[in-house]
Amino acid sequence: MLKLEFKPYILQKKYVFRIAGGARTSTPLVLTKLSYDGVEGFGEASMPPLYGESIETTIQFISKIDLSAFTNPYETESILEYVDQIAPGNQAAKAAFDIALHDLICKLLGIPLHHYFGLPAKNLVTSKTIGIDTPEVMAQRVQEASDFQYLKIKLGTDNDRELVEAIKLVSDQPLYVDANQGWKDKEIALDFIHWLKEQGVVFIEQPLPKANKADLAWLTARSPLPIIGDEGIQRLTDLKDAASLYHGINIKLMKSTGLREAFKMANTAKALGLKIMLGCMSETSCAIAAAAHLGALADWIDLDGNLMITNDPYHGHQVQNGKIMLNRFTGIGLLNPQWNQIPDYVEKI
Ligand code: MG
Repeated sequence: MLKLEFKPYILQKKYVFRIAGGARTSTPLVLTKLSYDGVEGFGEASMPPLYGESIETTIQFISKIDLSAFTNPYETESILEYVDQIAPGNQAAKAAFDIALHDLICKLLGIPLHHYFGLPAKNLVTSKTIGIDTPEVMAQRVQEASDFQYLKIKLGTDNDRELVEAIKLVSDQPLYVDANQGWKDKEIALDFIHWLKEQGVVFIEQPLPKANKADLAWLTARSPLPIIGDEGIQRLTDLKDAASLYHGINIKLMKSTGLREAFKMANTAKALGLKIMLGCMSETSCAIAAAAHLGALADWIDLDGNLMITNDPYHGHQVQNGKIMLNRFTGIGLLNPQWNQIPDYVEKI
C-alpha cells in the first residue's frame, strides 16, 4: 500500500534575493515521502510567493490525496491523473507528489531516474544566478562564482545597464539574462537586447509581462537573442501558442506539476522547434537532483537553487567546476536521506 507523509520546511537563503518585483530571505517548502513495500521515495514542493501557493495550500492539497484505490505504484499515468484532478492549480504540491512517486518507482526498479525516461547520464553545465544588489555586491558575487561557465543575472531594474557594466568589469563569463517581466516597453527592450548581445548575453528570459502577448510576439520576431518564456509557460497546455511568443521555454518542476509533465513538455517543445531551458526555484537538493535527470533534453541548464541556501536537508548530485555530475544512485539520486532528522518547522508568531 502506498503511504504519503509530509513535512513543512523553511529554506533559508545565503543572501537576500532581489528580483524585479520583490526581495526575500527564505522560501516555504513542503517535503514529502512516499512509501511502498518498505521502499521510500522523496519529493518536495517549493512555493515562491509569485505563484500563489503556500505551506497551508500545499498541506491542504496533499491531505486530499487518497491512494487507497491504487495498489500498483507503476501505474503512474492513472495515479498522477487522479492527483491532478483533485483541484486546479497547486502545481508545486502536485510536483511534491510526482517527484516522490518517480523516486519510489525507480528505487523499486533499481534504476536511476534518467534511465526510466530513456535518457543518458549527462553531466550538466549549469549557470549560477546572481541576484540584484548594488553593483559592488553583485561584482563580489560574480567573483565567488568564477567556477561557473555561465552566470545568470536578474534584471528589470531602473539601472540594468549599470549592473551589466559592473559585472563585465570583473568577469568575461557569458550571461543569461532574466528580466522577470520587468521591462514594459517593447521598443526600448529591443534596443537594450541589441546592446546586451554585444555584452556577451546568450538569451533573455521573460523580458515583458506574460500577458502582453502581442508585444512578446513582436519582440521575439525581431530580437537578435533568443527569447525564453518562464512566467508565461507553466504547464503542457501553455505550449499551444508558445512558438509564436518565444524562441524557447523554461521548464521547472514546480510549474509543470513535476517530472512526468516536464518530460512531456520537453518533447512537445522540441516538436514545436522551441529551445529548452531547465530551471528551478529555491529548492533543496531533492527537487534539483530530480530535475537534473531530465538535463539531457535541455539546451540550457539553470539548476543552482540548492547552491544558494544554508539549510539543505539532503545530499544529491555533486557540483564540480560548475558542472552537475549526475550520480548513478537509484531513484532521483539522494544520498542516504534522513527523513526523521529533518527538524519539524514551528511557525513563528
Ligand atoms: Mg525566470
